[in-house]
Amino acid sequence: MALKLYNQTRLPDELLRRLLVRTARRVGARSGIVVKVTRAREQLTGEVWNATGIAEWWCKRGGSKRYIRTDGAYMRIALLDWRGCDQHALSTAHETIALMLHEWSHVADAQVGGREHSRRGPNGRKPAWADRPEEVRAQFATKHAAEKPSKADDDLELELAQALRETWKR
Ligand SMILES: [Zn+2]
Repeated sequence: MALKLYNQTRLPDELLRRLLVRTARRVGARSGIVVKVTRAREQLTGEVWNATGIAEWWCKRGGSKRYIRTDGAYMRIALLDWRGCDQHALSTAHETIALMLHEWSHVADAQVGGREHSRRGPNGRKPAWADRPEEVRAQFATKHAAEKPSKADDDLELELAQALRETWKR
C-alpha cells in the first residue's frame, strides 16, 4: 500500500511525502498507512492508533463515512507551519523529524503485533509515560535511527527547515 497523506498544513505534499516515507524506512515501518498532518498551535505533537482502516471524515474536512484502508495503524502529526511562529527553523526541522521517527516506531510496533503494551490499571489510568513498554521501545528505536543520519537525511532536514521558513513568512 502507498502512503495515504491528508495534508492540512501549507507545507508541500511532495515534501511531506518524502519526509514520511524516509523516516518510516529509518525505523523499519511500512509507510502504506493513513497519515493526517495538521497545524500545531504551540508544539509538535503526534499520535498513532492501531487499526486496519479509518473513516474518511477523520482524515479530511467534509469526508464521508467511507472506510479508508491502512496498513496496521494510522497517524496524526501536528506541525508548526503558521505565520509569526518564532521558532528556529533548523531546530524545528530537527524536532519534526525526531517526532516522525518516534511515531513511525509506534507504527512499526503495531505492524509487527503481539508486543507488550501498557494497560490501564485498577484506577483506570495507564502507567506514567516513561514506564510504558511501547514508549520505551519507541524511544530506543528513535534514538538508534537518529544516531546515524545519512547525507540524504541531512539534506532533507535542511529542505524542511527552508520550507518552514517560507511558510512562516507567508
Ligand atoms: Zn510515543
